[in-house]
Amino acid sequence: MAYAIVAPRPGGAEILERRDIDPPRPKNGEVLIRHTAIGVNFIDVYFRTGSYPWPVERDLVLGSEGAGVVEAVGEGFTEFKPGDRVAYTVPNGAYATHRTLPAAALVHLPENVKDEQAAGAMLKGLTVHYLIHHSYAVQKGDTVLVHAAAGGVGQIAGQWLKAKGVRAIGTAGGAKKCTLAKEAGYDAVIDYNSGDWVEEVKKLTDGEGVAAVYDGVGTDTILGSIAVLRRFGTLVSFGQASGAPDQFRISHLASNSLRLTRPTLFHHTASRDWLTGAAADLFAVIAEGRVRIETGTPSPLDKVAEVHAALEARKTTGSTILMP
Ligand code: NDP
Repeated sequence: MAYAIVAPRPGGAEILERRDIDPPRPKNGEVLIRHTAIGVNFIDVYFRTGSYPWPVERDLVLGSEGAGVVEAVGEGFTEFKPGDRVAYTVPNGAYATHRTLPAAALVHLPENVKDEQAAGAMLKGLTVHYLIHHSYAVQKGDTVLVHAAAGGVGQIAGQWLKAKGVRAIGTAGGAKKCTLAKEAGYDAVIDYNSGDWVEEVKKLTDGEGVAAVYDGVGTDTILGSIAVLRRFGTLVSFGQASGAPDQFRISHLASNSLRLTRPTLFHHTASRDWLTGAAADLFAVIAEGRVRIETGTPSPLDKVAEVHAALEARKTTGSTILMP
């Protein structure tokens, strides 16, 4: 029987409940897929708690990335056929054994990329793609800073930056996470739960500061991120794991003539050309072994409440996968 995990209303992890579903037959331009692996992301927590606005009044199926097999196709989109291995990232709807979605959101999975790797990388890896090529396009020899370096986005970013010849400094909470981040390619990793990470970054850059900060932590780090940027540096504020960074003011940018951007993946994936090109780049770095997707032991889909609790308690590292 097909089932989904539903949040009946915004709330804590305990509100998530399993419901049997009858996935709709695909209409024009749609595809029905059976999930083989589903990725968990911090954005799922923002939606579950209601800190991101809900697209429906009630009964939201969370989850924004997955991989699977095409079971049926509607009229009008000839790129996919039953049996194809596919992957996608779209906001919500992924915590389910099956789902129907627009075919234009899917990409083909190459043979040398596993379903779990794709489910752990479509949202996080494509995010890293746009962060380091678009939000601040890194140059070989740059030094940049990435917060939460042992997390899902963080571990992919460290490896991809290293592959591009960029010196990446990471921050992470605790010694174990710092070790993992080092293994993920960071040149230096600072435990931002102990000591003064702003001073540490300044020391590591001989007082000059970094070319860009990729800040997905938000309220706890935003002002420090501004303080460690070099003249004309770029602050990329792309998340708020510790809360929305609302203490920020435009006048803060005057300290070093800084640039600020607050990007979102789904504005990039709205272009199918961008999606297919960026996914091909991502699958290439995975297949070549330059970026490993650390998925750990997958959890059963119906145990997702435990996974959410661990993610919020900062107990996870790398990408977390659910198996239907
Ligand atoms: P992570 O696996 O990185 O988990 C979040 C990490 O944030 C934690 O492990 C923790 O690492 C750190 N953190 C710091 N403060 C807190 C806090 N108060 N509560 C919980 N965690 C905290 O998650 P993802 O890889 O899924 O996402 C990373 C960030 O990227 C998120 O902010 C997410 O919203 C953002 N994002 C943004 C996208 C966009 O397009 N704008 C797309 C994808 C992700 P530590 O213990 O080391 O501090």
